[in-house]
Amino acid sequence: MQKYDYLIVGAGLYGSVFAQRAKSAGKKVLVIDKRPNIAGNVYTEEIEGIEVHKYGAHIFHTNNKTVWEYVNRFAEFNRFTNSPVANYRGELYSLPFNMYTFNKMWGVVTPQEAMQKIEEQKKQAGITEPANLEEQAISLVGTDIYEKLIKGYTEKQWGRPCRELPAFIIKRLPVRFTFDNNYFNALYQGIPMGGYTKMVERMLEGVEVQLNVNYLDDREKWQLMAEKIIYTGPIDAYFDFCLGYLEYRSVRFETEILDIPNFQGNAAVNYTDNETPWTRIIEHKWFDFHDQPRTVISREYSSEWKPGDEPYYPVNDEKNGALYEAYRKLSEKEEHMIFGGRLGEYKYYDMDAVIASALSLAEREL
Ligand code: UDP
Repeated sequence: MQKYDYLIVGAGLYGSVFAQRAKSAGKKVLVIDKRPNIAGNVYTEEIEGIEVHKYGAHIFHTNNKTVWEYVNRFAEFNRFTNSPVANYRGELYSLPFNMYTFNKMWGVVTPQEAMQKIEEQKKQAGITEPANLEEQAISLVGTDIYEKLIKGYTEKQWGRPCRELPAFIIKRLPVRFTFDNNYFNALYQGIPMGGYTKMVERMLEGVEVQLNVNYLDDREKWQLMAEKIIYTGPIDAYFDFCLGYLEYRSVRFETEILDIPNFQGNAAVNYTDNETPWTRIIEHKWFDFHDQPRTVISREYSSEWKPGDEPYYPVNDEKNGALYEAYRKLSEKEEHMIFGGRLGEYKYYDMDAVIASALSLAEREL
């Protein structure tokens, strides 16, 4: 009856990496996905000769050499360096927060002057032990930068006041007292040439894949087909939301083809005020090094997830953390099932971390 060693639900990075490892260990695997395409949210599609990141911009960056070497087996990476620009009511600032940002904001010239400015503002705000995102932000970069570059963007992105958000979200961004606009502190960074979809296609070479099939619609059938199931869909959906809904932020993209070669001169421009309805505009061609005559841009609108929407960012607050924990306990009782990835573990995973996690599952399993 059981045709496969592993049924992998979800052809995103977690599922595809595990499938690749399992296949090469001689296992029989089947990957299914409810979307018409592989690659999950890193899916890219060519429009006007440009690789368009259909489910949001993905810039690969990692300090993990094993992961870097692993992905380089399936794609050649370009030398793209993420340096987003913040647009606050027409004033442009460099991101992440670095000497260019401090100079533009305050006219300071030396690192000492910048540190002093931040220290003053932090003192004035009276923060000693930051307890939420607002306090964390002010204690890292001061009130001016918080007000102009963080508050509006963050509240649009998360749909919640900064005082109610966990501090760790803002710690994702580096603060540097050097003139360095590289958004990431990572040893390795780049975008797969030819797009992420090609990279995932190569991972899945020789693996049986069925698209447009929803595991949850027919789980009895699928359960009989494989010895073990790797489930990378939303954990709460797996349990029919029996304990309640986990909250997510969703993102809607308005993508446009423009008959000009250059719209904003950069891959990402963040709109950090709270009046502009979108959080950022991505100009996809600048992820690569081409000179197509036209350009493709995507405006990103952040919204609260509701049933039927695509879940993007898990909301990692206490309430959702506790609910996830309750689902996780349930999942331990499910025989032959492994829950993994961003949705299976309800985790704000970067790509490299999701790959590392799939590789370590493969080590344990195979
Ligand atoms: N952030 C901000 N202003 C910006 C960019 C980011 O305040 O211009 C904050 C915001 O709270 C966001 C967090 O930094 O949620 C992490 O940003 P990151 O770019 O890592 O988010 P992602 O790339 O995952 O969307």
